[in-house]
Amino acid sequence: MARMTGREYVESLKELELEVYYMGRKITRVTDELMFMPHINTAAMTYELACDPEYAEIMTATSHLSGETINRFTHIHHSIDDLVKKIRMMRLLGQKTGTCFQRCVGLDALNALYTTTYDLDQERGTQYHRNFKKFLSHVQSKDLMSAGAMTDPRGDRSFRPSEQKSPYAYLKITNRNQDGIIVNGAKAHITGAINSHEIIVLPTRAMGEDDREFAVSFATPVNTRGIKYIFSRQTNDSRRLESPLDSGNPKYAIVGGEAVILFKDVFIPWERVFMAGEAEFCASLVETFAGNHRANYGGCKVGLADVVIGASHWIADAHGVAKASHIVDKLTDMIAMAETCWSCSLSCSYEGHQTPSGSYSINPMLANVTKLNITKLAYEWMRVAHDIAGGKIITLPSEKDLDMPELGDIIRECFSGRDGVDVDDIFKMLRLIENMSVGAGLPEAMHGAGSPAAQKIMIARRSGIDRKRVYAETIAGIRPDQLFESIVGMNEAEYWKKTRDRIKNQQ
Ligand code: SF4
Ligand code: FE
Repeated sequence: MARMTGREYVESLKELELEVYYMGRKITRVTDELMFMPHINTAAMTYELACDPEYAEIMTATSHLSGETINRFTHIHHSIDDLVKKIRMMRLLGQKTGTCFQRCVGLDALNALYTTTYDLDQERGTQYHRNFKKFLSHVQSKDLMSAGAMTDPRGDRSFRPSEQKSPYAYLKITNRNQDGIIVNGAKAHITGAINSHEIIVLPTRAMGEDDREFAVSFATPVNTRGIKYIFSRQTNDSRRLESPLDSGNPKYAIVGGEAVILFKDVFIPWERVFMAGEAEFCASLVETFAGNHRANYGGCKVGLADVVIGASHWIADAHGVAKASHIVDKLTDMIAMAETCWSCSLSCSYEGHQTPSGSYSINPMLANVTKLNITKLAYEWMRVAHDIAGGKIITLPSEKDLDMPELGDIIRECFSGRDGVDVDDIFKMLRLIENMSVGAGLPEAMHGAGSPAAQKIMIARRSGIDRKRVYAETIAGIRPDQLFESIVGMNEAEYWKKTRDRIKNQQ
């Protein structure tokens, strides 16, 4: 079986027994829980579109391992075209769901591990790349969804992993034997964790000599013994248990359904281990993963912007002001901001490069700029959406009040728009804008794939500031400018002496 449909994916989750906690309850079958279903539906879209011939070009790829057609979410990029199609896939899925479709973290973890385990084996003679390729083939052949689990809780950030008091601050290897490793600790904010098939663990940061046991990467099935999940709360999340209309995007919800993952004496066999103590390789693994993931944000979030721009135009139209010049101006601003971020994602993909492993990776500088722009511009286009939609997005009565025979019609009259527009549709659209712009989506745009400070560190590190100083010094005449000397046919000192003489003669 090379590809699952959306429905087959949902069915596949029913076979997994997990230990998930949500609002003080224990849930073992995630598809039984109404709160989780929109997130599961969204992830299912990554499967469904890959089985639709209309989207095959973007949503599928040819496995470099088996030669089979696979879902692009399990593919290792092997060309610039692959990098560009990945970004197109992100925007497409954002447009189809209006939310986070979760599967990209696993995809980026696969690609980061492919290159890093190759480098590790080359330098250290280890077997990690072989282990990883075996795991990859399993993921590709079964079309599995992997949750990328990178972020540790991190406790007091001023302490290194080995200096932390709490054993939950950073996941670590607590034991090794000839069969494998035992790990303990936690990972936090893990997107799509409860509705994946596999968890891919990566270290969260560069590690030092004393942090070797924290330099760990592996993959394990989601239902491995010793793993517990605690599902996060989101703004207005319980509305989806009360009323589909009030919840905004009842089919797909908002952001990725994050969870804390607790690991208690979890055994990982060596063949599933991709790093165990090689602290020197953590920085490049983290940087490669982060670059791949940050590149996505000008795809997925721009897909969301497309939805919000469409919703804003729809609501302005329903209110009879779609052609007003101030509305056209605001919508144009939203479009220009979104397309700026799209350009960033495309450019970091087109400027990608081949890695020693043969796979392709994005331009890291441009990927970090992409994500940094998103941390600002996503807020800005949502601000404009609020401006266009009006205060109604936070003052609408509930679906339950609309259902009251003595009140429903009066409420509908209060919130009606121009003739010919169904007022119930106005409610749906305003709730969609509320859900996408007021809830958890914006902090996710800020912190998902790393906070702005993390992007700025990468941008500063790769800025080539010394080269820029040389440009300035050359133009200012502090350094020799051979090109200028060639143009004027003499050295600069002589040229300026002559110029000064000419200025004097003219006076
Ligand atoms: Fe994918 Fe975007 Fe969600 Fe990250 S935030 S998992 S890139 S959809
Ligand atoms: Fe994210």
